[in-house]
Amino acid sequence: MSHKSILFEARQIETAVALIRLGARLQVLEAETDLSYERLLRLYKEVAGCSPPKGQLPFSTDWFMTWQPNIHASLFMNIHEYLNKATELEEIDAIIKAYSLYLEQIQAQDLNPQISVTRAWRLVKFMDNKMVTMTPCSKCGGRFVTHPHEIARHFVCGLCNPPARAGKGKASGGLKLH
Ligand SMILES: [Zn+2]
Repeated sequence: MSHKSILFEARQIETAVALIRLGARLQVLEAETDLSYERLLRLYKEVAGCSPPKGQLPFSTDWFMTWQPNIHASLFMNIHEYLNKATELEEIDAIIKAYSLYLEQIQAQDLNPQISVTRAWRLVKFMDNKMVTMTPCSKCGGRFVTHPHEIARHFVCGLCNPPARAGKGKASGGLKLH
């Protein structure tokens, strides 16, 4: 085995470990590394201290459009877009970094994260495939995750127009996206 391939493998393991620590599902590791399923499974058990959860990954884009998840998804995507412009990270590294920064921001405000790293990863793929997009709010100018072809002139975000049951303040978390 050449020197380079050992380094490459070490890098892949590092990526997998970072994802497991953030709570990623096994399917994310399979998609983002060349490591075998058996090795990933062993790695997962070693790092997480338990077997990975079974079952399908969430698939629908609709979940990201519901009120609170949308605010959190939009915060994550704003960080992700910023990193992509400001740095030259590989896509998976940008996701790991953006998700870590998202967690920092959420925890600094004493909030619970509403979006898992697996969902965040899924969201970036949806964005890549143009199944969702970012649209600026016509009131606050913040950029939010929306269905494609949302009409920006009419779009009002979930912070400017929270559902009646939500009220102001703690529920919206005082998050600002601009
Ligand atoms: Zn707004």
